[in-house]
Amino acid sequence: MLRLILLGPPGAGKGTQATRIATRYSIPHISTGDILRANIEGGTELGLQAQDYMERGDLVPDGLVNEMMVDRLAADDTEGGWLLDGFPRTVKQAERLDDLLGRRGEPLDAALYFDVSTDELTKRIAGRAEQEGRPDDQERAVRRRLDEYFQKTAQLTDFYREQGLLHDIDAVGSVDEVTGRAFAVLQEVSSRMPPR
Ligand code: AMP
Repeated sequence: MLRLILLGPPGAGKGTQATRIATRYSIPHISTGDILRANIEGGTELGLQAQDYMERGDLVPDGLVNEMMVDRLAADDTEGGWLLDGFPRTVKQAERLDDLLGRRGEPLDAALYFDVSTDELTKRIAGRAEQEGRPDDQERAVRRRLDEYFQKTAQLTDFYREQGLLHDIDAVGSVDEVTGRAFAVLQEVSSRMPPR
């Protein structure tokens, strides 16, 4: 039973690690990016509203994303814990989540921060663009996503550090190495949790 959020810039490998952690702890992997993309594919109202922001690499407005997450966290499969990948991404979203969890008496157990230096990120993104022959508008959207991260999401590490919930994980290395570091941190977190 764990309630976790993952933080880190685009390109830190969060999604891959999220899948591994969720499998290991048998908790649902809730990715806001995946839910939004499914809504776009399904042509829902939410998908229509989110599409332009996502294509540009901008964040989708807080109101839409918060409502979507309140609904998702009300589902039965969340009773034994969950892992949020891609939420919260702004202080407003983090406050909404705190408020919801406070009301339910379900505290967050940990926020894992996948730490990659800006130099390393720029290298990874440039490498990927070259390999994939990314068109200009896609390249622009990637850069825009990074800008959004530094302007709006990076400050969440302080938000959770102040609550004593943040755990830094060095995200440079092989996928397996990073998973090993994440599992070690989570073992420590679980061992300190009171039984419930
Ligand atoms: P991701 O797959 O997590 O990289 O998300 C892809 C895109 O979905 C982002 O670039 C945003 O446009 C949008 N998105 C995902 N999660 C959020 C969020 N918590 N708040 C706002 N926009 C989001």
